[in-house]
Amino acid sequence: MITVIKPGVARDKVDNLVSWFKARDLKVNVSDGDFQTVIGLIGDVDKIDVDLIEGLDIVESVKRISDPFKRANRKFRPEDTVVEIGAAKIKIGGGHFQIIAGPCSVESAEQISAVAEGVRKAGATLLRGGAFKPRTSPYDFQGMRADGIELLSAAKAKTGMPIVTEIMNANHLHWFDDVDVIQVGARNMQNFELLKALGAVRGKAILLKRGLANTLQELLMSAEYIMSEGNENVILCERGIRTFETATRNTLDLSAVPVLREMTHLPIVIDPSHATGKRNLVLPMAMAAAACGADGLMIEVHNNPAEALCDGAQSLTPEQFAELAEKVAKIRSVL
Ligand code: PEP
Ligand code: MN
Repeated sequence: MITVIKPGVARDKVDNLVSWFKARDLKVNVSDGDFQTVIGLIGDVDKIDVDLIEGLDIVESVKRISDPFKRANRKFRPEDTVVEIGAAKIKIGGGHFQIIAGPCSVESAEQISAVAEGVRKAGATLLRGGAFKPRTSPYDFQGMRADGIELLSAAKAKTGMPIVTEIMNANHLHWFDDVDVIQVGARNMQNFELLKALGAVRGKAILLKRGLANTLQELLMSAEYIMSEGNENVILCERGIRTFETATRNTLDLSAVPVLREMTHLPIVIDPSHATGKRNLVLPMAMAAAACGADGLMIEVHNNPAEALCDGAQSLTPEQFAELAEKVAKIRSVL
């Protein structure tokens, strides 16, 4: 349920109403927008007399939210959420656009430092690299694990770029102290115990990727798991879904951007690398993502894609990435 406060109402009156709701065992979220304050309520809202609240002189309207996602809901918080990342507080969402770039997997100190330097110069603001890799085959490279995170950390120290890497098991969290954005991969989008554990993490953003066969509502329910434990720094990522089409690795659901924009206030990132699986499709889809209003991109870049241990076919060289960053910036300036 949400209670919309009339414009210009004094703070102490809003606080009184908030205390009244809290005394009734409801979880309260106050969203202060430029024009309006919205009080979101979660819990047994049926015990609230809607007519009584609506009759208060400070209240404009009271609405029930029938969607199962509440904290992630745009109705609950009408303003875009701006997530701040790392010590430098890099902003994403609400008009702030960021490019996350780096290799599928961290492979060596030389590789990650060369790619980090290359993408930073080209305009990427966050460095990605997989250390724990969710591979379809147990015989494929599984990632450098904790050693990979150490190498990412060293690249962060050298370049100043915050780092993004995937977690597969909440028991590994102690290795993620220096990680700025913890990624939940497509395969773990509905690992609810992992989501709850990440909800309890403070001071780090969570990049939540859409599952291979999940609806946007299911994606938002997964965001809700994280947010309901208190970590509201969630960034959503569309990375392609399974369809009957075989010409591309997955099918990029670009309409997810405007659809999610209506459903939620959370930032939305597009990953055209995993969505298409093909290097030559990454640039056009990245430009399209910028054009349709995404808040950021995640792009796989390798200094030697032909020798990559994972996802070489979709990896750009640093030079190709530089062209992409430049063209995306042009699209954004036109907008
Ligand atoms: C990745 O980003 O490295 C990855 C494995 O992506 P996804 O979970 O989208 O397949
Ligand atoms: Mn990959």
